[in-house]
Amino acid sequence: MNQLHVFFFPLLAPGHMIPTLDMAKLFISRGVKTTIIATPGFDKLIENARESGCDIGMHVLKFPPEKSELPDEIKSLDQISDDLIPMFAKALELLQEPVEKLLEEFHPDCLVADMFFPWAVDSAAKFDIPRLVFHGTCYLSLCSSEHMRIYEPFKNVSSDSEQFVLPDLPHELKFTRPQVVFHFDQEEIQNDFTKQLIRIQESETRSYGVLVNSFYELEPDYADHYRKVLRRKAWHIGPLLLCNKGGEEYKAQRGKESAIDEDECLEWLNSKDPNSVVYVCFGSLATFTEKQLHEIANGLDISGQKFIWVVRKGKNQEEDETENWLPEGFEERTKDKGLIIRGWAPQLSILENKAVGGFVTHCGWNSTLEGVCSGVPMVTWPIFAEQFFNEKLVTDVLRIGVSVGNKQWKRMGSEGIEREAIDTAIRRIMEGEEGAEMRRRAQEYKEKARKAVEEDGSSYTDLNALFEELSAIKVGQRDNRDKLYRTKETI
Ligand code: UDP
Repeated sequence: MNQLHVFFFPLLAPGHMIPTLDMAKLFISRGVKTTIIATPGFDKLIENARESGCDIGMHVLKFPPEKSELPDEIKSLDQISDDLIPMFAKALELLQEPVEKLLEEFHPDCLVADMFFPWAVDSAAKFDIPRLVFHGTCYLSLCSSEHMRIYEPFKNVSSDSEQFVLPDLPHELKFTRPQVVFHFDQEEIQNDFTKQLIRIQESETRSYGVLVNSFYELEPDYADHYRKVLRRKAWHIGPLLLCNKGGEEYKAQRGKESAIDEDECLEWLNSKDPNSVVYVCFGSLATFTEKQLHEIANGLDISGQKFIWVVRKGKNQEEDETENWLPEGFEERTKDKGLIIRGWAPQLSILENKAVGGFVTHCGWNSTLEGVCSGVPMVTWPIFAEQFFNEKLVTDVLRIGVSVGNKQWKRMGSEGIEREAIDTAIRRIMEGEEGAEMRRRAQEYKEKARKAVEEDGSSYTDLNALFEELSAIKVGQRDNRDKLYRTKETI
């Protein structure tokens, strides 16, 4: 009767659903009952995990909800262009009522709700259930975001090219205004996205705590800063992806169905020398202009490296069908050394293959952590969201990667990086003494990641501490609402 029951409510996007599913699996492996509140489009993923023996509970909500104006075929954030985001955000608001019905009916012991559901803190409070926030990012990025809000250092520069330092952080992290435009806009435009960001931050301070998909040894200064200086209650329980040890079947269907036969892809990699292939992928949400895709192709070509390049397919990728972006004869010319995957790639399996020696990444946190766990140096190419913060962890703090030099935050139609910059950055991680040094360091972090999730490792221990606290709440502290919900803190 004392078994904990945790409800998870992830954002409707692959980058949020993937770690949530990992989290649910991890909790199950530690004896906790879990249920995911899902929506159509993601239920299949959970169903697959269940079929491969994972005892996850699931409730599927209607999406788009009844009163939403969102077109019926939209099931996930990766399907929409920027103009639909306000409508998508409104549809997420409409999920509050059905979620509360579930909480009332099943009364779980905890609700782990994505940052994009700021109302979840009030919903959980109605039923005296602690709400934990899941952002899906690292400590450094959580600290940076908070310092950006508190200090507004972007106000101290007079041009978009002038750098500013984010004050009072453990390292001297420098940015320019166009890289943090979503913070900068708060004062200027107050658009829907930035208003939402303010609500998210406010909701976080009232929530019981925060779950972080990271591990202490990766960013000890920022784990301490977040918990001791910013006084947030947080548990690091990652890397969550490592809960998939041996789960080959699940890995193959991670996120979406692969656009390429996985065996074929691995066979191709197996025919290559160790550390000789660079893997290039920009996650599930960002898109480039045709011109930028053209530059990437040329950059890969002149770098002389073997590569796997994942090109997103979808209606937002410009000129998707015609592929005018491919240089004349590119695929023929590179057929022995390159593989283009159009659509979804089996990323985890690719990164784990010993032929892969480098990763060009957009610094989405899942991808970044997957790069860390594979022990490969990275070319960092942040595009939007908190990716410019994650980049700094890789390049300035861990020193396991080099930046390609993107200066502009822009989710759709990103561009501006020339082939020479791509070539140089790729060579720096794949060749020479500098690359070897980064690889050595990256391998050390890979080992530390593995140890963190082992019995008595830092993440293992932190998860124990969380379960102990939730169990204590379950057995007797429900009446102490002050412990469950904090009033808004001022720092
Ligand atoms: N991913 C994948 N195949 C792809 C693209 C992405 O398996 O072709 C996975 C990737 O391994 C990661 C997630 O999708 O787990 C993307 O999350 P991330 O935080 O890196 O970026 P986002 O897509 O949220 O921008």
